[in-house]
Amino acid sequence: MGLTTLTTIREMQAWSASILKEGKTIGFVPTMGYLHEGHASLIRKAKSVCDVVVVSVFVNPTQFAPNEDFTKYPRSIERDTELALTNGVDCVFMPSASEMYPNGTDSVRTTISVNTITEKFEGAFRPTHFAGVALVVTKLFLAVQPTDTFFGRKDYQQTLVIKSLIEDLNFPIRLHVEPTMREKDGLAMSSRNVYLQPQERSSSVIVFRALSSCNNAIANGIRSSAILDSTIQESLNTVENLTIDYAECVLADTLERKAEFVSGDKIVALIAVRLGTVRLIDNEVFVIP
Ligand code: AMP
Repeated sequence: MGLTTLTTIREMQAWSASILKEGKTIGFVPTMGYLHEGHASLIRKAKSVCDVVVVSVFVNPTQFAPNEDFTKYPRSIERDTELALTNGVDCVFMPSASEMYPNGTDSVRTTISVNTITEKFEGAFRPTHFAGVALVVTKLFLAVQPTDTFFGRKDYQQTLVIKSLIEDLNFPIRLHVEPTMREKDGLAMSSRNVYLQPQERSSSVIVFRALSSCNNAIANGIRSSAILDSTIQESLNTVENLTIDYAECVLADTLERKAEFVSGDKIVALIAVRLGTVRLIDNEVFVIP
């Protein structure tokens, strides 16, 4: 099977229907394009689990606030097609904005709001973001009709939102959450990294170092979330011109705070910083020994 590129929801649904009719599984990797090795690792995982793999490339306007980088978000059909071909993707779904939102984004009457988990962290800094994500992922699930879907742990809070969405709306889709792919120095891969100026690129490694300092503190017996938070924040603050949006350790399943972690607790260190105009997010999950 070669690479099929589809741009309309109807074609996508018909393509998937014929695959499902053959009793095959469809692995779906939703993306905003400008594909990199992080996306490729999701694609490879999907190929190892499913009979066919669909990748969507859609820079979704409803998950960007007016002051964010929607128009500047990097786009390259050639790069995305090339990466999809090399990694054996069966179908790339590349709808236009008018295909996804035929009457414009302001005319969408339906909202999909996932509560509680969306209030803190990314939700606090980007209040409309997760509603846009939940809406577009719902629309993409209905277009692609996958049996399995693959998301990166890099966007940790997003994976909890998608888990809630799938469970609450009874989507018959298995969710797979896959590890974060990093550059050699530890920077989490991201399409937005191309916008880091050379000085910012060298500073950016501090995010991974801050996560490593948290790991070390846990290994050294620190259990107080306040001390773990300040360990991370002090590490981040060693770099100039960096603004911390948040840097905190919380319970991994609920994102709730707990003063003292105990053995067996699954926790996540969540970080969002701004370096110049680029916003970086990263995280690491730990189980308290
Ligand atoms: P994006 O195109 O940035 O919206 O990301 C599409 C999917 O790729 C999401 O599930 C992301 O979590 C995932 N992803 C992005 N960066 C990475 C990475 N460095 N490692 C693994 N998955 C990633």
